[in-house]
Amino acid sequence: MILVSSCLAGLQVRYNGTHSLDNRISKLVGENQAVTICPEMLGGFSIPREPAEIVGGDGEDVLDGKARVVEKSGNDVTELYIKGAYATLEKAKKMDATLVVLKENSPSCGSLMIYNGEFKGNKIVGNGVTSALLKRNGLQVISEEQFIENFF
Ligand code: SF4
Repeated sequence: MILVSSCLAGLQVRYNGTHSLDNRISKLVGENQAVTICPEMLGGFSIPREPAEIVGGDGEDVLDGKARVVEKSGNDVTELYIKGAYATLEKAKKMDATLVVLKENSPSCGSLMIYNGEFKGNKIVGNGVTSALLKRNGLQVISEEQFIENFF
């Protein structure tokens, strides 16, 4: 079973109440070949919420206590991101996920690139908090671009 970011399946769970629909991914969910997850909703956020970025590193650094996740207005939301990451890990383990496809660039779900913490649209190489935790626990995490490229 594949675990996918909810927003890729068309659920309106992004910080601004929109989705990032990919029809191929949504079809897999409809055919019961994939299950959706939104780490930020599991962390306790609501919709809409403020945009957030990782300041001082990437998701690996957040897990190591060396970087923080901060909302645009300056609220530190690190603990909620970590909570969502662990809840996602638990679900992935419970369903015995063979592959996890997460939305690129997100401070939770990015697995190749994330925004750099300046809220100016600039990215750095790195993992979001959830991707970092899942990878540390041996799960295969890829972006939607990699998934589409390799599995369709
Ligand atoms: Fe999509 Fe992940 Fe952000 Fe949820 S946390 S809206 S699944 S990118």
